[in-house]
Amino acid sequence: MSEDIAGYVDVVLPVPLRRAFTYAVPRSLAGRIGRGARVAVPFARRKAVGIVVGERDAPPEGVTRIMRVAGLLEEEPLFTEELLAFLEEAARYYMHPLGEVLRAAAPALPRGALARLRKDGFLAGADALKGAAVRVREEVFVRATEQPREGRFGVAQARVLALVDARAEVSLSELRVHVKTARGVVAKLTERGLLVCETREVLADRFLAATPVIEAPPVATAAQQHATDTMVAALSGPERPFLLHGVTGSGKTEVYLRVMDAARALGRGGLLLVPEIALTPQLVGRFRARFGNEIAVLHSGLGEKERDDYWRALRRGDLRIAVGARSALFAPIRDLGVIVVDEEHDPSFKQEEGFRYHARDMAVLRAHRASAVCILGSATPSLESFRHAREGRFELISLPQRATGQVMPKVELVDLRRLKATTPAQRYVSEPLLRALRACLADKGQAILFLNRRGYSPTMQCKGCEELAGCPACSVPLTEHRREGALRCHYCDYSEPLSAPCRSCGAGERVPLGLGTEKLEDELADLLAPAKVARLDRDTASGEGVEQVLDRVRSGDIDVLVGTQMVTKGHDIENVTLVGVLLADQSLAFPDFRGSERTFQLMAQVAGRAGRGARPGRVLVQTYQPEHHAIAAAARHDYEAFYTAELEQRRELGYSPFGRMVAVRIDAPEDDGARKVAEALAAEARRHPALQDRRVQLQGPAPAPLAKVRSRYRYRFLLRGDDRRALREVALLVLAAIERGVGTARATVDIDPVSMM
Ligand code: ADP
Ligand code: ZN
Repeated sequence: MSEDIAGYVDVVLPVPLRRAFTYAVPRSLAGRIGRGARVAVPFARRKAVGIVVGERDAPPEGVTRIMRVAGLLEEEPLFTEELLAFLEEAARYYMHPLGEVLRAAAPALPRGALARLRKDGFLAGADALKGAAVRVREEVFVRATEQPREGRFGVAQARVLALVDARAEVSLSELRVHVKTARGVVAKLTERGLLVCETREVLADRFLAATPVIEAPPVATAAQQHATDTMVAALSGPERPFLLHGVTGSGKTEVYLRVMDAARALGRGGLLLVPEIALTPQLVGRFRARFGNEIAVLHSGLGEKERDDYWRALRRGDLRIAVGARSALFAPIRDLGVIVVDEEHDPSFKQEEGFRYHARDMAVLRAHRASAVCILGSATPSLESFRHAREGRFELISLPQRATGQVMPKVELVDLRRLKATTPAQRYVSEPLLRALRACLADKGQAILFLNRRGYSPTMQCKGCEELAGCPACSVPLTEHRREGALRCHYCDYSEPLSAPCRSCGAGERVPLGLGTEKLEDELADLLAPAKVARLDRDTASGEGVEQVLDRVRSGDIDVLVGTQMVTKGHDIENVTLVGVLLADQSLAFPDFRGSERTFQLMAQVAGRAGRGARPGRVLVQTYQPEHHAIAAAARHDYEAFYTAELEQRRELGYSPFGRMVAVRIDAPEDDGARKVAEALAAEARRHPALQDRRVQLQGPAPAPLAKVRSRYRYRFLLRGDDRRALREVALLVLAAIERGVGTARATVDIDPVSMM
């Protein structure tokens, strides 16, 4: 080892290579670079950013030319040991290059950091090294003392004491929201020895600018108490995953809050994963109401800098609780005590690009490794999770009733086959649903209508040649967006004016076919005038916009809300007494073995929006298949009946949760090229003996249901089998072939696939 070299480290880089690279550590950085550190290294003639995954005394044998680490990008290691070891296991499980996994998990490097590296390997500008980049402000925190409360209290004083009692600690700015004179009141009560104040620095994040409304926790129901006690006991011992199966409105959130509070009292951190943060402002609000500014809300609206601030604050333990969607799984929480996955059945927990992981499955893994309690919550658990519970791998805890004591809404099926004759053509709202809507409005109730198709008409047919207007780049029809005056593709950015002539025959006139949310909104506004109808889908709202629409519904400004699956999520709006499902069969028609499950989940979830307040709810479901097991069971709120029937079908067909699956996806600019690569990769798989003795079965290759997207032709094949080891070996053969090169094609291996498209 030469004089100025202190040792060697193995570094992984964000490149599609399944290996680490060894670099020498210069003396100037001696003792500062350990596992988890983010470093700059020379790679392929430029500077690349990588993560140290190991230290060594000598270079690997046979390697003669070793370059040096160019610099250290933060003083503390970016990844805690717990997080890094977990990600290493996740990378192995998904057979994905570790460097890319770590890049997906890490916050982006602050801009310009590489350019600021000095000769000695440190960053110019001390802030990045000191780790003090967090913007902070001072905040006064108020706590109650043990001193008995004697004497009389004014109204404001009593209110402040009640608020302080609701939580271990409350900031003065929060108190001021409730009591204008809080500052003076707190001073008085502090003088009497009833309160103590402490000034501390807190993060100054835009998202936390709005002060949360403190709510006193309700008295837990017996079922909530039992759930909480069992899970809290697991915090200190043998830890295990729980499946919290609670009907819609059963108060699962309250259980999450209590378990997190208990973890916090033990000095441990918590993580809450939700499907989509913009759609769950209420849930996040409740967490903030209980934990104040102690939580990091990781949302897509955060800037690089803010994300970086949060990451550091969590890693140091300044913040103990993180809330976020899928990728918050990687939050570097210290002493993790509990991970909650709310709506664990939601398909959005599966990342479908790059590092394809399932955040729910990985939450179970991370919790297990950290000896933390994992809680998967849902009213409609995935078949996989419920079977785990049935077979004892998860502990099942049920909340069979609504927390408010309200009964589950009554669900009526409207058989569209029988109504065809009586409902005018092109009328999509059946007479029974229309009557129910009118009755609901007459009763000063509100309604939610669910239709899983945005746009005005999903397809347009040419009057001349009867061709459907299709996307030139994708194998899907274009959707009419009438307000916008355009035909749009929902898979790429393509759009054309509504007035554009037919691309096949040049004729100018088209007939709209089918129903989208935009048209439904118009129809209802006509039918129900003067009631106010609004729409919630990706065209009307994103991010904060969603919250605004929901606020308007909550305030009674909107009578009827029409929307896509965005309306089915956990919204808790008291005055909604009617829910309508326009076409329940839609998701059944999907070329996906989970179509029935998805249908059951959507129906049960949207039905669960009705009757959450004082008045009972009613649900009308329009369908062509009222006897289908998913629809019939959802109508009876009978999860177990659905589970039993569906499990039987899956068993027969050998689909998840029976057997495991790996999807190999191929796409290329030419149909022929994609097919050839698919066939070559399938042939590679067939070389493995497990395919000959049928321990692993190969299905395909075949064009994907979405055969072309963005001018790329898509093929896929599936590998299935019970023998996990054999399946992995086959997948490795395919991966090796992909790494040897597939020309202009792209090929990916998707372990435990969710999307079948
Ligand atoms: P879920 O997540 O199971 O659908 P929520 O947590 O949203 O249910 O709770 C449904 C409603 O019941 C909310 O308005 C909540 O404030 C209320 N709630 C929860 N627990 C209790 C309780 N123990 N007593 C009274 N109301 C409760
Ligand atoms: Zn397209």
